[in-house]
Formats: sequence, structure tokens, C-alpha cells
Amino acid sequence: MDTRRTYLDWNATAPLRPEAREAMLCALDRTGNPSSVHREGRVARRLIEDAREQVARLVGAKPAEVIFTSGATEANNAVVRSGWNTVFAAGIEHDSVLAPSGDGGARRAAIQVAANGVVGLSGLDTDFGAHSANASAMCLVTLQAANNETGVLQPVAEIAELARKHGICVHSDATQAIGRVPVSFARLDIDYLTLSSHKIGGPKGAGALIVRDGAPLARWQTGGGQERGRRAGTENVAAIAGFGAAAAAVHAELPEFGRVALLRDRLEHEVLRMSPETQIIGRNAPRLANTSCIAIPGRAAETLVTAFDLAGIAVSAGSACSSGKVAQSHVLVAMGLPANVTRAAIRVSIGPATTEQDIAAFTAAWTDITRAVAKAA
Ligand code: PMP
Repeated sequence: MDTRRTYLDWNATAPLRPEAREAMLCALDRTGNPSSVHREGRVARRLIEDAREQVARLVGAKPAEVIFTSGATEANNAVVRSGWNTVFAAGIEHDSVLAPSGDGGARRAAIQVAANGVVGLSGLDTDFGAHSANASAMCLVTLQAANNETGVLQPVAEIAELARKHGICVHSDATQAIGRVPVSFARLDIDYLTLSSHKIGGPKGAGALIVRDGAPLARWQTGGGQERGRRAGTENVAAIAGFGAAAAAVHAELPEFGRVALLRDRLEHEVLRMSPETQIIGRNAPRLANTSCIAIPGRAAETLVTAFDLAGIAVSAGSACSSGKVAQSHVLVAMGLPANVTRAAIRVSIGPATTEQDIAAFTAAWTDITRAVAKAA
């Protein structure tokens, strides 16, 4: 990475780990197709099965429950499009969950979100009961483990317990949670879990869907018999090997997150000291140690992000600029926050390799940038 840059956008993608790079380089030199029965094929197959074990171990799943995909988007799409009558989802979910949630005639039922970003459980028992009263109705509840913009953690275990009572299947998108908080597929006792490689220091374009044996799953990519017939197509062996290596490495790194939380707290403390009007979104909710969603009401997030970029610092905005207009973050809108906040929030996300100097670079740039953006507004 360019040493003159300060990279504070780990939720967009984490830097590639040396272990993942090494595993990928080794895999690239293996010629065999993992479906071939000869020795070259068996060597490639071994790489995939080793990675399957590493990924399964990270999330407390059985290797046979792991289906490798091209990433979390594919895994989320596959679950949500599996022939449901009703899909329960909150407005804070990732677009790869929300966009397909009405496909195939499914009805989308909303889960409420409180202003601190945590979904509300009250009323859900009744809603679940109403939609699952017909024994042949296929219902899914999908709830992310941690939000990508705010880092807020969701009560997946509680929702799962409630859903099970009504025979409703449960999916959790754990893309932002894995490697940062313990996630156990077995302990959550859910049907589907989504993972992505590049958020934990593996390569981009790889991920996994963990599926409980017997859970409904429509075939979304057919042809060959790869992934036990559940996802056809010759596997991306190098990317899968890199994902496996990253999963093994991140497992050992969880204790580092105590230090990450201290850095995040220092950054927030400094920002609030310099600009008391700042809002830290989800601050009072349980949240990931690495994520800060920061808004100065009324400032355009895109302008802040560009100014930080020019100052050598990579952060991101939940909102994206479309046709010259600053869009709102759909996550913050779902939390019921006002437009002067939903258009203003920037996300700072860090990781175990983040240093005190990185945080100091951000806070040193903060005053000049926020003053300049205030003047421009
Ligand atoms: N879900 C969440 C919560 C995410 O943060 C992301 C990536 N921004 C995705 C899904 C999509 O992941 P991928 O890039 O692997 O398709």
C-alpha cells in the first residue's frame, strides 16, 4: 500500500493479508481442474477442501455446509431468491439483500429499526405468526449480523429463536461481523449465513454461503456438479485458497479488537472535542469496534470524502452521488434520521493494522476540512 496514504475504509475492503497472497500465488501454479480425477485435479481439489475447512472453522459450521460463491452479493441473492412467500427484512440491510427481496412474487415484510440502528423485536411475534399461519407458506427472515455503515450489531440469536417458533427460516449476512466479533453458525442455530472474503483480508470476488442441510435453496447457477450440485461452475481455486488462508489468520486476530476499539474511541473523542455539533451514529448501540459513522448535520458527505481523499486519507460516505445530487444513505433513512444527517454521514472504518499515526492523520485533517466544507456549503 502507498505509505503516503492513510487507509480508513476497511469496511469497503480490507488490505490483502500476506497469508492470503501466499496461498493464492501457490494455487495459481496448480494446473488441475478440481473436478478432474487425476493427480493434478486432486491437488486442486485439496486446496478447495482445505479452504472449506478453514472457513467452516471460522464460523462454527461443518465443511459440508459451506458453498463457495463469488462473494456476499451472490450468497445473499441466492438465499433471498429461494422461492419465499414472505421475506422479513429491515431497511438497514445491504442492497444485495433488499434488491432481490421482492423477486419471484415474494412479499417483503418490514422489520422496524430504532433510531440507534438496532432492529426492534416488539410486534414481530404477531407478524411472524400472521405470515406463517398457513403451513405451506415459505417464510424467511433475514437479519445482518453487523451493519456496514454504522457497525451496529443486531440481535440475530433472539430473532432466530422467535422465527424458529413459527417455522420461519433464518438468514444472516455476517459479511461485516466475521473476524471482528465471534460468529457461530451452530450456536446461532440458523439456516443460512453469508460471508465475504475481501472484508477479512482475502481476495475480492470470493465468499461463501453456509447452508444448513435440508434448508430450502433454489439452484441459481446450474450446469456441472460442483459444490455438491449446489453451485455449478469450475471453482476459482486461487481466490478460494486465499479466502481460506484469510479465514485461518483472522481467527487468531479477534483479541486485537480491544486495541482497535481504543483507537476508534480516541478518534471519536477528538472529533467531538473539535466539533461538538458532530453526531456519532449508533454510538450508544452495541457495535463493531472498528466502525465510526460520523455526521456534522448539513455538510455534504461526498464533499467531505473528496476533501479527505485530497488530504491523503481514504474514508467513505454511506450515500452515493447520483446525477449530481448527493443521495441519502438508505441505512440512515431506515433509522429515521433527518435528511441533514442522512446526507452528511461519513464512515471511518479501521482494522488491526491501523496505527495511532493513522488516527492522528485523520484528526489533524479534520478541522481544516470541516471548516473548508462548511464555507463551501
Ligand atoms: N453485505 C454487506 C453487509 C456488505 O458490507 C457487503 C459489501 N459492502 C456485501 C454484502 C457485498 O459483499 P461482496 O462485495 O462480497 O459482494
